Amino acid sequence: MLNRWSAEDAPDRSDPVAQLVYASRLLGADTGLVLHGGGNTSVKTTVTDLTGEPVEVLHVKGSGSDLATMDASGFTALRLARLRALLRLERLADTSMMNELRCARLDATAPDPSVESLLHALLPHPAVLHSHADALLTLTNQPEGRRLVEEVYGDSVVVVPYVMPGFDLARVCAELFPAQAHPGTVGMVLLNHGLFTFGADAEEAYHRHIELVGRAEERLARRTTPSRAAGSGPVDRVRLARLRAEISEVAGAPMVLSRYDDPTVRAFLGRADLAAVATRGPVTPDHVLRTKRVPLVGTDVAGYAEEYRRYVAEHQGRARAPLTVLDPAPRVVLDPDLGLLTAGRRATDARMAQDIYRHTIDVISAAEAIGGYQALPAGDIFDVEYWELEQAKLRRGGALPEFAGEVAVVTGAASGIGRACAEALQARGACVVALDRDPSVAEGDGVARLGLQVDVTDAAAVDAALDTAVERFGGVDIVVAAAGIFPASQEIAGLDLQAWHRTMAVNAESVAYLFSRTHPLLALAPRGGRVVVVASRNAVAPGPGAVSYSASKAAVTQVARVAALEWASDGIRVNVVHPDAVFDTGLWTPEVLAARAAHYGLTVEQYKRRNLLGTEITSARVADLTAALCGETFAATTGAQIPVDGGNERVI
Ligand SMILES: [Zn+2]
Repeated sequence: MLNRWSAEDAPDRSDPVAQLVYASRLLGADTGLVLHGGGNTSVKTTVTDLTGEPVEVLHVKGSGSDLATMDASGFTALRLARLRALLRLERLADTSMMNELRCARLDATAPDPSVESLLHALLPHPAVLHSHADALLTLTNQPEGRRLVEEVYGDSVVVVPYVMPGFDLARVCAELFPAQAHPGTVGMVLLNHGLFTFGADAEEAYHRHIELVGRAEERLARRTTPSRAAGSGPVDRVRLARLRAEISEVAGAPMVLSRYDDPTVRAFLGRADLAAVATRGPVTPDHVLRTKRVPLVGTDVAGYAEEYRRYVAEHQGRARAPLTVLDPAPRVVLDPDLGLLTAGRRATDARMAQDIYRHTIDVISAAEAIGGYQALPAGDIFDVEYWELEQAKLRRGGALPEFAGEVAVVTGAASGIGRACAEALQARGACVVALDRDPSVAEGDGVARLGLQVDVTDAAAVDAALDTAVERFGGVDIVVAAAGIFPASQEIAGLDLQAWHRTMAVNAESVAYLFSRTHPLLALAPRGGRVVVVASRNAVAPGPGAVSYSASKAAVTQVARVAALEWASDGIRVNVVHPDAVFDTGLWTPEVLAARAAHYGLTVEQYKRRNLLGTEITSARVADLTAALCGETFAATTGAQIPVDGGNERVI
């Protein structure tokens, strides 16, 4: 375990909160310590309040923030005296505890404090750091977990048996810690959960943290994991999309399904005892919220859902209030052929499950090598999955955006209408696969956006892009064909055949090809596939001097109409928009604009608003219409051609 502390970068200890921010970020920077909001940190100080009174406070991580990106605003200052009073209570429901913690804030607008705040409060040291370190979980998720911890740490740590986080855990620690701690105590191990270290300041607590995790790592390194790698070949994208459709169906909503593959994953999937070791439970209970208790091993989604319902039925008597039952779909799929797949309602959910499961693989593999991986009993995991605080979050949680869990492929997405369509769909919750021959299409990529440099007339490149898209997101729900070119003005008498071919290839043939390749994916879209072709006013009202463009847009309109006929029975809607005079696009260089204006004997400004409404038509306007066509408003519309041209006498 790398000690990342830098005396040069670290803030001075005279500013304990700044030093804590620094230490928190160092913990967060190491995915072997904490992942996605896991872990928490605190420091105790004395401040002077408005009345001039000194107040002892606990600055503790607020819930919902991530240690890796922590800043001072992510901490909440709580009155320590009040926390200590709460610790004297025999019992307290966790929702009541959260209410008390909120009321103990110095600043009512500070974030909700960590659910482990009381645990931080009871430790007598000023600075406290808590992680869910992989190495420690490997050591404690064993039948002999406690013995191993004692072997590695001697009596330098207090060992606490597993108790669910919340008031009950704080209460148990409040009893065990003072009874076991002595001047040489530098940490506290919560079996099957994680590690606490503490010190006079965040620097001391951090050094102790890294030192203790390092000792666990040394103990693990004495054994090596034998591995036999599973085969890795190209994965059939339709098979992946079918699995995603099945998962979405049992989830009751479209799900993103993301594939991950590397030698470690392949070695794990190649284990003869995969089904046995992978279904014992998560490495620390709060992972259940991202990964569910167990992964689906294989591809029997219906069987998994049935098993999940049985698990809920078996344990729901443990809950103190009626439950909002979660969907029974898996979040992690382990299949020796398909690889490690993770599912979520949003791309970020699938990514978090993926990150967590990659660490789970490390922990299980290492734990098996030193004895045997053993997780907590299912009932304990159920308690966290259906914790009253999590249930309250579910009831509060707002609706997800319109296209959450759906995947849109947009061509011509580096500029103009294509780019605006990609942005509009992503803003409405879709994952976007943005294709363009311009490499700038990859700029601004994130978890929910994948930009790929592709010439849409290159069939092999389009196929490869679809493979990548489905590996990343699990399928294709929406296709927006916006890539297009506008060749130089030219009358038929002087036809340049090469320009004609190129225009037809980009504007029409590439769309027909894209359709042929995306059809099986669209047919598997959980809410039905949707396609929008960005054609042109020229398709219905052609322009002199634009024969290639007008003919190509008429051709692609016809492709869409035939697709609407052929695909209606597959639940796929295909519609066409006919924009006109959209000048914020890649097609309209100032030279082309000037040439077209001159052709009509108009100034550029007159030419821009040359429509009945006298309005300017922007890419964003076209994108709004395109997104709407993919939405519920147009659920009963297919084969339509909608102008977005400000009104045109020749079209009307
Ligand atoms: Zn924890």
